[in-house]
Amino acid sequence: MNDHNYDAIVVGSGISGGWAAKELCEKGLKTLVLERGRNVTHKDDYPTMHTPPWEFPLRGQLPLELRQENPVVSRCYAFKDDADHFFVKDKEHPYIQDKPFDWIRGYQVGGKSLLWARQVQRWSKYDFEGPGRDGFAVDWPIRYEDIAPWYSYVERFIGVSGNKDGLETLPDGEFLPPWEMNKVERIVQERILGAYPDRKFVIGRCAHLTKPQPHHTAQGRGQCMARSLCQRGCPFGAYFSSNSSTLPAAAATGNLTLRPHSVVHSLIYDDAKGKVTGVRIVDALSKETTEYFAKVIFVNASALNSNLILLNSRSERFPNGLGNDNGLLGTHIAFHNYRGSLSASIEGHLDSYYYGRRPTAVMLPNFRNVKRQEMDFLRGYMSFYSAGRGSWGAARNEDFGPDFKEANSEAGPWGVYMMMQGETIPKLSNRVYLDDTQQDEWGMPQLRVDVGYDDNDEKSLRDFLDQGAEMLESAGCKNIRQNDSRQAPGLDIHEMGGVRMGRDPKTSLLGSHHQMHACPNVYVTDGASMTSTGTQNPSLTYMACTARAVDHAVGALKKGDM
Ligand SMILES: Cc1cc2nc3c(=O)[nH]c(=O)nc-3n(C[C@H](O)[C@H](O)[C@H](O)COP(=O)(O)OP(=O)(O)OC[C@H]3O[C@@H](n4cnc5c(N)ncnc54)[C@H](O)[C@@H]3O)c2cc1C
Repeated sequence: MNDHNYDAIVVGSGISGGWAAKELCEKGLKTLVLERGRNVTHKDDYPTMHTPPWEFPLRGQLPLELRQENPVVSRCYAFKDDADHFFVKDKEHPYIQDKPFDWIRGYQVGGKSLLWARQVQRWSKYDFEGPGRDGFAVDWPIRYEDIAPWYSYVERFIGVSGNKDGLETLPDGEFLPPWEMNKVERIVQERILGAYPDRKFVIGRCAHLTKPQPHHTAQGRGQCMARSLCQRGCPFGAYFSSNSSTLPAAAATGNLTLRPHSVVHSLIYDDAKGKVTGVRIVDALSKETTEYFAKVIFVNASALNSNLILLNSRSERFPNGLGNDNGLLGTHIAFHNYRGSLSASIEGHLDSYYYGRRPTAVMLPNFRNVKRQEMDFLRGYMSFYSAGRGSWGAARNEDFGPDFKEANSEAGPWGVYMMMQGETIPKLSNRVYLDDTQQDEWGMPQLRVDVGYDDNDEKSLRDFLDQGAEMLESAGCKNIRQNDSRQAPGLDIHEMGGVRMGRDPKTSLLGSHHQMHACPNVYVTDGASMTSTGTQNPSLTYMACTARAVDHAVGALKKGDM
């Protein structure tokens, strides 16, 4: 049994699992990482990383058949034939939608860290104070000050480009040099700020190496080339992924055992010992069941999968799922409302060009209900915009010949695109639970997802569309068009909750260090643990929470508390 015993087990090797692995291994724990998908080694397993567009039969678009077979995942903008091998196809891993929910997944070593869009903003003190102050969800058991040092720690390691803007609602971090706004973006920013002095748009913060530091180059990571082919896997290691960064760091310690093709079925609760002792896995290829044991378990299978595993971890003590004494496991799921967007044109500036494919946009932190409740809806939204010129070669002309060529040798007019990232309110009725009858190929019950929008989301969407239109108008834009995509929840790929943190075991599953109230050697540090969603992108917060939780776990182990 010796090779089945470890100090720590991590379930999942994506953004949060990679961080758990790195921190546990670097602190000296023999750590087993269990990953349900295949191995993906940095560079070796990025088959399209250098493929030029003309070598794709459809120049990077999806074959019709693939689209028709995959109505859910094909709605994700990054699911194209240069990267479809990193996405879960609809039929491979079925789930049941009580209401429409686009569950976008990446099952492989590295998880969705290979696919993500890499926008990373710190949450502000207002995000952690929000639920308690405004009386929704439950109060976070931590505040910004608790997590701030861990944001710094993570930012330095992953590499985050950004500008120090001094905004209370979007705290500054440890930044590499920022990307730049183009001329029209600057003009739009200045005009909006002139009309709304409290609405300062800033250049986005993203996990790209604009100026690699010695610890990045030591890992073989290099400068971002602004190719914007990131979802294929980056040969330069220029954006942060588990594959290029945290997993190699964990492996370098000699303490990591990575076991791909390991579908974690459940956590093992030993009734006699009164604690969790390990995990039960089904080998994805042989379908054999095996058990592994450890003193501490980190659950990082991504938000809904962590819910699934815990709901499926049933014992005499916990008949309704691990740690589920209050019956709230799987409830209060929330996500980001991405339905609203605007497009507009802006005249002139035809002598201005820009170069490269910048991997970020311009962003405005939430300005609604920040310091007090002032609207007829709870919380607010972050807004993003970018300005760009129409493509070369887009000119249409009935004539052939020199005029046509001349027209097509110029970039088109300027356009502006704006979108929202709205906070949604965690509610009891938005939940996931296990289906009683249908299982997947590996004997796991299928997950039922019952998550939808509410009136609060509709009001927040309407407000964004109106405010966005007003802001663009104040910036001198024309032909402003408002759009409600009506997309289902899930397509934001920011699903959170179900195993929320809180102060009271009666109303939450996890305490202030992400430990299960009822099983203190089990830590959940992915999106499942989030008490509320904030309006910022979430993954930086998952990483910081994970590093902080590992520090706590290792301290507790040393003290003999586990
Ligand atoms: C196209 C796209 C764009 C995005 N853009 C952004 C962005 O700009 N900013 C941002 O903050 N976030 C973004 N995200 C979201 C981001 O990718 C996720 O928040 C993040 O990956 C979550 O980390 P995780 O560790 O919880 O899950 P993942 O990275 O998904 O990793 C979970 C891992 O667990 C494994 N697993 C699941 N179930 C089991 C099981 N039973 N047994 C063993 N292993 C299991 C999976 O195979 C996977 O490898 C984006 C995502 C996508 C797809």
